[in-house]
Amino acid sequence: MIYQNKENTPFIDQEVVFHQALQHGVNHLRDNWFKENVGIVAATLVEDGKFFSATSFCMPDNRWVHAEAAALQQFENQFGRKPKPSSALVVTLSPCYLESNSRSGASCTQKIVDSSIKQVRFGCLDIKQTPDIALYKQIGLDAKFIGDQSMQISCQALYALFDKLYSPDGIFHDLLNTHQNPWSEIKRIIGLEPFQK
Ligand SMILES: [Zn+2]
Repeated sequence: MIYQNKENTPFIDQEVVFHQALQHGVNHLRDNWFKENVGIVAATLVEDGKFFSATSFCMPDNRWVHAEAAALQQFENQFGRKPKPSSALVVTLSPCYLESNSRSGASCTQKIVDSSIKQVRFGCLDIKQTPDIALYKQIGLDAKFIGDQSMQISCQALYALFDKLYSPDGIFHDLLNTHQNPWSEIKRIIGLEPFQK
């Protein structure tokens, strides 16, 4: 979407592009929702206005490749290079910052810093992984919450699923003991509910 600024020079409103990128990621996650090993987070890499979306996914060793890492890796596999530093990552959930046993490799925050990308937007803040949003700024990331009402509903609903599985009083907590892949079972039960407005 192109706007005119005061000097009448066309420029692209990046925040509008970020909203579109978030929607693109959510759509991509919905389209792949029932595939084996697909998780519940989506990331969209934005380079020169083009969108490249990926979902989190589970490896054969049961560790997770987070959506941001998947997007960065898929981009590099497809183009044989890293994305430009002017690119952005737009994620349904804020990039992880702390240690995690279930994650494959370094934190997404670290991987984004290593990629030279500075701009990050997210639809929901994961307070368990990033207790303070100022942490992003301290390591040089321009990471902000996207205040899009319609998307927040999906992003919040997706994030809420983590609690429903991992909290001891979560409604799906028992599935951790009874199912090898509890997310597949949860998706079978709830269907596309997190994407419905
Ligand atoms: Zn992560």
